[in-house]
Amino acid sequence: MGSYLGIDIGGTNIKAGLVTEDGSVVASGSRGWSGGDPEDAVATASDVASELAAPGTAEPVACGVGCAGLVLRETGIVVRSPNLPTWHSVPLRKLLEASLGLRVIVENDVNAAAYAEYLLGAARGSTSAVVVALGTGVGGGIVIDGRLYRGGHGFAGELGHSTVDIDGSDCVCGGSGCLEGFANAASIVGRAASAIGAGEETILTALADERPLTAKDVGDAANAGDRVALEAVEAAGRVFGAGLANIVQILDPDVIVVGGGVAAVGEVLLGPARAEMAARACGREGHETRLVTAEMGELAGATGAALLARDEIARG
Ligand SMILES: [Zn+2]
Repeated sequence: MGSYLGIDIGGTNIKAGLVTEDGSVVASGSRGWSGGDPEDAVATASDVASELAAPGTAEPVACGVGCAGLVLRETGIVVRSPNLPTWHSVPLRKLLEASLGLRVIVENDVNAAAYAEYLLGAARGSTSAVVVALGTGVGGGIVIDGRLYRGGHGFAGELGHSTVDIDGSDCVCGGSGCLEGFANAASIVGRAASAIGAGEETILTALADERPLTAKDVGDAANAGDRVALEAVEAAGRVFGAGLANIVQILDPDVIVVGGGVAAVGEVLLGPARAEMAARACGREGHETRLVTAEMGELAGATGAALLARDEIARG
């Protein structure tokens, strides 16, 4: 059976999978890296890829790459990436084609993951889906009628940088008052830290004395019933839900899929988000957009990128 190589380049590790025509991952690998220069990424990705093999599966015929940041799909250039601050207009497709000896397509990592969720994961069977990655940043990918929607310039789906507070503070994107700053991992930690600073009673105080808090710490405390942690998570969930309601009002997708590290906090976050979304996208009389959690796991980006390469080859 023919296969495709999928690679996911993130800020702290590079993952690769050998993916069959039907989307099954038959071999995979991952390597931590320092988020260094593009040559490092290409060398590391090529190393991980070279170790992938599975009995009965032919060598890959093409490679799809998901990479965080603004990606120009047509040229395979990564314009810039929040996780890879030294990258500016990197010709990633050209570099990887030279290293791998394969045809390469490059896509935004969340777009690639969205495609995988749409075809095989939590959005399968839908016509239109929006996939949101909730973590250090807040990314989005849009699939409509079987195709990724990239917008006029390739930058569609940047949900995290839609405005939720016109007077809000500055964002890493250069704008201000963006959803990302209210719903990402750092915002949850920040709310909890403010409460600790104000002397509120929480199980997180002792932990914060030992090491920097993470969003997972706050999520765990919330799930254990800690009031301060619950308030921090619920506040993030509410703003997140308002952002999702904006998507519903504009696109009316069948389903919104939420993935990423912060989504693992679970219903203490997604419950308030769902309620806020329903309240702000009301009056649909049983035709509401569903809000569900992602199913494709760690290899969503690599799998989706490989399937995008498959479809590109099929188009010729
Ligand atoms: Zn922003």
